[in-house]
Amino acid sequence: TTFEVTVNSTTLETGTVVVLSFQDLTALEQAEDMRRDFVANVSHEMRTPLTSLQGFIETLRGPAKNDPDASDRFLEIMESEAGRMNRLVEDLLSLSRVESDIRVRPTSRVYLNLLINEVIAALTPVAAAKDVSLVAHIPKHDVEIAGDREQLWQVISNLIENAIKYGVEGGTATIGLTEPEYDPAIMQDGVQITFNDDGIGIPSHAIARLTERFYRVDSHRSREIGGTGLGLAIVKHIINRHRGRLRISSTVGEGSEFKVILPVESTPKQQ
Ligand code: ADP
Repeated sequence: TTFEVTVNSTTLETGTVVVLSFQDLTALEQAEDMRRDFVANVSHEMRTPLTSLQGFIETLRGPAKNDPDASDRFLEIMESEAGRMNRLVEDLLSLSRVESDIRVRPTSRVYLNLLINEVIAALTPVAAAKDVSLVAHIPKHDVEIAGDREQLWQVISNLIENAIKYGVEGGTATIGLTEPEYDPAIMQDGVQITFNDDGIGIPSHAIARLTERFYRVDSHRSREIGGTGLGLAIVKHIINRHRGRLRISSTVGEGSEFKVILPVESTPKQQ
């Protein structure tokens, strides 16, 4: 079915007729639904810490006014709620940045072996706080690809942070990097970065939805440990921008594997 739609827009010449296919209209409606959901989600996520902050401010002004112990406790909670809002805003900004330049393929030279080691060093205190060991299987020599260093840092750090967050105390998160070789999934030379944990795992019905904005398997648990539900959406966009692939496999109660495949060159070789 084909619909004809006349568009009154200053950017189009008057009388321009735009023909949209049925699929296009459905896609437009879907995009509009997604936008509405997104705004509703953001508002909801913002409102929760704000309501809590407001409640504590009222209590500090009233009943807890002359109770230093209670005040200290409440101020600590308020600090963590403010931190949550901060992380949410930071993640929203990251998401909008990567969404806006998704078409441009990054071309800087990035040494993945060095980058992974740097991220591991930065996250070692976070892992230690939960008694999770970080183990790396990284080639000693340089593994160089075309990419955006800052964005790849974000991918690696989000995936290691998740392995720690959804890992078990005393568990292990293993990060691996392969040498470049032809990868049929991207039909060119690529490298694989793998993130394995022995944590809570992910039910199979949830795997396909993990990279949706604000999707969480267990919202309560994720919020409690400080998650925004945007980390994997950001990861997916950055990998797409690099024309790579993300593969997720998991067994509940045993652990998960996130595998990132990235092309070595920004321009695929002509076959
Ligand atoms: P969050 O900020 O909630 O961690 P993410 O987008 O990073 O958001 O992840 C989405 C959801 O995917 C998480 O809430 C969690 O339920 C699940 N998840 C992500 N990584 C793992 C993992 N390594 N093990 C188990 N569950 C995971």
